[in-house]
Amino acid sequence: MSEVAGINPQVPPSGPGCVECDAYGGWWFHLRRCAECGHIGCCDSSPSQHASAHAREAGHPFITSYEPGENWFWSSATDEFYDGPSLAPPEHHPLDQAVPGPADRVPQDWKRHLH
Ligand SMILES: [Zn+2]
Ligand SMILES: [Zn+2]
Repeated sequence: MSEVAGINPQVPPSGPGCVECDAYGGWWFHLRRCAECGHIGCCDSSPSQHASAHAREAGHPFITSYEPGENWFWSSATDEFYDGPSLAPPEHHPLDQAVPGPADRVPQDWKRHLH
């Protein structure tokens, strides 16, 4: 795939979990990766929706999944799904990381907190 504005395949992900949730002890349902800067944030079903907040605040429209086995791209600028290039590894969170996660921060009644 040729170079696309808003997608930078060289940038590795920021880490195994949502940047903001990890900063204050939150938890997430699924993880999303910013295709431009590698920011890992939680999905729109998660309590805090940090991936969308990052896309909005940073002006980075392309989000891709950080879940094993998923490889779609989505643009918040167009509300459409796309195929995208392989990004710098790892392409998903560690396989032993719980979903929702992280295990020690997910409340018993987590389903009630999803959007
Ligand atoms: Zn989060
Ligand atoms: Zn970004």
